[in-house]
Amino acid sequence: MPKIIVVGFDGATWDIINPLIAHGALPAFETLMNESTWGSMESTMPPMTIPAWISMFSGLTPEQLGLFDFNKVIVGKKAVETRLVNSSDCSGSLLWDILSRRTMKSLVLNIPGTYPPYPIEGHLIGLDFTPLERCTYPFELEQLLTEKHNLVLIRENQHQFLKGGKAALDMIRKEETMVLDVAMSFCRAYEYDIAVVRFGIPDHVSHHSLDENVMRECHFFMDNLLQHIREIPCEYLILVSDHGIKKGEKLFHINTYLEDMGFFSMGTRERLREFGDKAIITLGKRVVGETKRLGTEHRDFTSMETIQRKKSAAFAYSAIPTQFCPLYITDNSAREAIVQRLKQCEYVKNIHDVKCQDGPAALVESSCQIAARPGKAHIGYQPRWYHDMKGIFLIQGKDVRKGHHIDCSIYDIAPTLLHMLGVAIPDGLTGRILEEAFEESSEIRKRIPQYAKASAHERNEEERVKDSIRILGKLGRL
Ligand SMILES: [Zn+2]
Repeated sequence: MPKIIVVGFDGATWDIINPLIAHGALPAFETLMNESTWGSMESTMPPMTIPAWISMFSGLTPEQLGLFDFNKVIVGKKAVETRLVNSSDCSGSLLWDILSRRTMKSLVLNIPGTYPPYPIEGHLIGLDFTPLERCTYPFELEQLLTEKHNLVLIRENQHQFLKGGKAALDMIRKEETMVLDVAMSFCRAYEYDIAVVRFGIPDHVSHHSLDENVMRECHFFMDNLLQHIREIPCEYLILVSDHGIKKGEKLFHINTYLEDMGFFSMGTRERLREFGDKAIITLGKRVVGETKRLGTEHRDFTSMETIQRKKSAAFAYSAIPTQFCPLYITDNSAREAIVQRLKQCEYVKNIHDVKCQDGPAALVESSCQIAARPGKAHIGYQPRWYHDMKGIFLIQGKDVRKGHHIDCSIYDIAPTLLHMLGVAIPDGLTGRILEEAFEESSEIRKRIPQYAKASAHERNEEERVKDSIRILGKLGRL
């Protein structure tokens, strides 16, 4: 039995859950909330799936991690390229890396950004944002998933996502059912200190349908998943989401604005726009797997290939629109002028400086969503669900206060989990231990937190190789 189970619902927000509870439609959520401390959890800036999950389990900011998007942006001398983020892009230690060094065991199931998998104490299984091949550690697990857990069916039917609508929704249900089955059978079969299980809904569904009924159905399904998860015995159950979702339609086409100010130039605007519409389908429906199956190279929402690198002093890049868009400045002599122009723009609310090697120079914040994709004008309209900063947090278990409200930040999760597990917290994390979630008289509240020098937890290439050798050596694989 795991001591802690962390269940992630990607994109979940109380803004949708609470009104449904008020109608008695989510009994599992309702029961759990009555027994727990809960509140909203602020996501990363920008609220993007991969950086948000990695920040949650490392306690590090996108700036510290160098991760701002699904994609890594590589600014070359002649061109700008993008590729999907992978596990080696993460420069910090994740929760399960820290636990592995203390031979504590984790189940890590379906957390974006963990592909390709690498040795940890326990099991690491990637599904979303992976080709669904060689996506497990230990590697032999894949055979078990294939034989007992419908991995082949999911892999072979990935093209259903491209069809959208009901076919896509059916596939999403099948995949989430598989995640539940794996979580339940692994938690029963193995001893873990922590099990981290993520479901891709409601984020997946929000990219397929604007229909309120579909979103409600999705939440009924989530409630059902939660009811099953609660059958797994554990000391603590924690619910989280990487960000929330909300409906909107106004888009600020930032690169069009930069172009009109003379800082940005692209090849063919029409071509790029057309491209973008097709590519978002690809992105939303499993980037690597789908593109691999189709035999095409990965194309993302905003293709960088038509940007005229040498004629552009700056460009903004974001795979999907959110309120924050990373801004890359390629000509530093124009930096001040670019920032001034952006500050004068009525759609720009704030410009946040970023200090990150090979990363963006700033994050532009708007009151509406910012699309990197060029538009006909500075403002465009596209009704859809967007990622929102407000995710969910809930904790239930031994000595946790019941019916207590707490608002927190995504950076609080890693220090809180480490403290709960009695493990030293790396210095330099921005988050805090959510101690007010526990009864004042409880041992966990009274216990003095332990901190370790950040260097003890740094995960550089050398550290990673050492971890792998140690774990594989112990298993007799070397
Ligand atoms: Zn997400």
